[in-house]
Amino acid sequence: MRVAVAGAGLAGLTAAARLSEAGADVSVHEREPTVGGRVRTDRHDGYLLDRGFQVLFPAYPAAKTELDLDALDLQTFSSGAVLARASTGERSVLADPLREPRALVESAFNREVTTIDKLRTLVLRRNVAMRDEDETFARSDNSIREYLRKWGFSQQYVERFVAPFYGGITLDRSLATSKRVFEYTFKMLSAGPAALPAEGMGAISRQLRVRAERAGATVETDAAVESVVATDDGARVSLADQTLNVDAAIVATDPPTARELTGVDSVPTEGPGSVTQFYTLPGHAAIDTRRRIVLNVEGPAPNALVPLSSVAPGYAPGDRQLLCATFLAADDFDPFVMSDDALAERTHEAFAAWYPERAAGGLKRLETVRVPFAQFAQPPGVHDRLPTVDAPAGEVYLAGDYTEWSSIQGALRSGRTAAAAVSK
Ligand SMILES: Cc1cc2nc3c(=O)[nH]c(=O)nc-3n(C[C@H](O)[C@H](O)[C@H](O)COP(=O)(O)OP(=O)(O)OC[C@H]3O[C@@H](n4cnc5c(N)ncnc54)[C@H](O)[C@@H]3O)c2cc1C
Repeated sequence: MRVAVAGAGLAGLTAAARLSEAGADVSVHEREPTVGGRVRTDRHDGYLLDRGFQVLFPAYPAAKTELDLDALDLQTFSSGAVLARASTGERSVLADPLREPRALVESAFNREVTTIDKLRTLVLRRNVAMRDEDETFARSDNSIREYLRKWGFSQQYVERFVAPFYGGITLDRSLATSKRVFEYTFKMLSAGPAALPAEGMGAISRQLRVRAERAGATVETDAAVESVVATDDGARVSLADQTLNVDAAIVATDPPTARELTGVDSVPTEGPGSVTQFYTLPGHAAIDTRRRIVLNVEGPAPNALVPLSSVAPGYAPGDRQLLCATFLAADDFDPFVMSDDALAERTHEAFAAWYPERAAGGLKRLETVRVPFAQFAQPPGVHDRLPTVDAPAGEVYLAGDYTEWSSIQGALRSGRTAAAAVSK
């Protein structure tokens, strides 16, 4: 069986690996010079710069089945976060006491959130642990904010911890995103740490590429697919310099392109972007967060500061440190229209207020990464309206996070489901 895959993101590469391993003759065609789509890493003077800050949850079921996690040499974050407040210069730790008993005392005395909130978190944890992914995404839906209100969490807990932490994950600090995404990521984080591969997030995509190639697939980069059409006996895939007649085609591009290529109306085309700015610090000026992310309890600019090389030392050369700040859009703040200098100034101000004992001047801007389409928008109920992998006509299939939910788990699982549909 001859199969062509358009797009070498996680979904396309997983589909290609699975089908090749099952004996199909697979070719992958990727528009960009490198594979990985939204999961890529650039090298810059010995620093590893992911295309936007993101992490892998090793507890994702599809990460366990599709990836060789040991080979990724995962470097893990500590649970919870440092909550930072510029107006008073206060910093405090909020950790998961079940995963990190050593942080129990610090967390118990954290005054940013109430004791009742801390106890409710433990009850919520037991509650979400009972449901698997399918059940979580099949249940009735609501916004994260409304869901937490119904659970009785205080406004202060929602604003000071959930908004920067889960708003950072969903790229929406207003917490209007589907509570299903919150429940499932909360469950994943209760089950294990967030992690970075030692060689950067792009190592995940490279590993999938090698897996597919070892099984016999060919992967062609700088090769945009221009059209995909179902035919009487398969599909016709056109690129600038060639036309392929195949038994089946998988469209594994980003969602807006997938909609254009297949005409399937239920493929979502709107979604939040992400802005990440990278900085270096001399090694002696490193901040000690004990491998935790620093959250801005007061606003989205920056939403968080991440000590990347303290978590994964390979992200920075020699005795240098690599950090990044993430910026989220708000009513009165759009990081996409702000200059790199203006964003850096916001980080310098926050850093100086949060860490007055460190010289903020040592923080040097390295690069700003703007990803216009980072996830598809996930308002409550959206997952009920997403296309299935066999939504296009004939032997044309879809693979992409948007057939599941916007995440690494969603993309890997979608690739596997598409491969199974083609093999049927
Ligand atoms: C900044 C950021 C932070 C994130 N944080 C997290 C996180 O912490 N945890 C998590 O689980 N998920 C996170 N995500 C989401 C996750 O990365 C995505 O859901 C997932 O990578 C999507 O994979 P995909 O294969 O579906 O699509 P994509 O990665 O978009 O892959 C599509 C591929 O198709 C290619 N393509 C497009 N058009 C064509 C064409 N015409 N011909 C050929 N090829 C084409 C593209 O170049 C691309 O390589 C984040 C995403 C971003 C951007």
